[in-house]
Amino acid sequence: MAARNVSVLITGANRGLGLEMVKQMVQCQHPMKKVFACCRDPDGPRAEALQALAKKHPDIIKVIQMDTADLSSIKQSAQQVGSLVGTRGLNLLINNAGMLIKSIMQETSAEDMQTTFNTNVTGPMNIMKEFLPHLRAAAKASAMPGMSCSKAAIINISSLLGSMAAVKETYGFFPAISYRVSKASLNMLTLCAAEELKNDGILCASLHPGWVRTDMGGEEGEIDAPESVQGMMKVMASLTEQQNGAFLDFKGESISW
Ligand code: NDP
Repeated sequence: MAARNVSVLITGANRGLGLEMVKQMVQCQHPMKKVFACCRDPDGPRAEALQALAKKHPDIIKVIQMDTADLSSIKQSAQQVGSLVGTRGLNLLINNAGMLIKSIMQETSAEDMQTTFNTNVTGPMNIMKEFLPHLRAAAKASAMPGMSCSKAAIINISSLLGSMAAVKETYGFFPAISYRVSKASLNMLTLCAAEELKNDGILCASLHPGWVRTDMGGEEGEIDAPESVQGMMKVMASLTEQQNGAFLDFKGESISW
């Protein structure tokens, strides 16, 4: 993204792909103006790497507490970000935080379904709703025509495992029922939001990061986090109204629902 004036919010920014996004957004040639790096426990040991990065880039990175499964913490963070961005608004919201329980249908409990759905679907929906005024403000403040991630956009980090078309080829080696159902739902949410927000000039898309070697992806993953994020940043920078409601991978290839 040619990013000088762009503000971005990333959930689950303390490790894995979220942390790598923050890194690349501040260390690239044209860093973001502001990166709101959200995590559920900013003072805990799992946020140490993020805090160290924030210390190095105090003008850009603002660490924000947000548990994506807790509406009151989402509301609080939306207020906090709103007071910082003012009428310039928030340009880019990346719903990255997610959880995965690996189990087949016969071993998946109602509780597994509910916890996963709360984090991977209801959370992103609440975040979209609460940050909508700031995204609208950014769309309104921008003089750019059309849609883009530099203007106003929501990117939901989804997964190929949420693709119904890919179940036959992927189920055997990666069952994860609650995760698959949640990511398919997240994709539906992306599509509905794309319709609902198109008149506001806010672009919505789902991205699959690839199979990445993180805590979630495991050591057998096909790529590492820097490669995945480099790809996703390139894809995000290329999005226009043509891709509103799209489901793309980190190389920009379209994925079947
Ligand atoms: P990790 O497990 O490495 O990191 C998950 C992140 O989400 C952590 O920062 C974690 O925070 C955060 N998180 C989980 N639940 C919550 C919550 N309730 N509130 C706030 N933060 C939360 O996963 P990845 O970095 O690999 O995955 C990032 C995204 O990419 C996810 O949405 C995942 O589904 C998706 N994805 C990943 C793939 C892969 O191969 N890695 C493949 C396809 C999609 P904490 O440290 O507090 O737990």
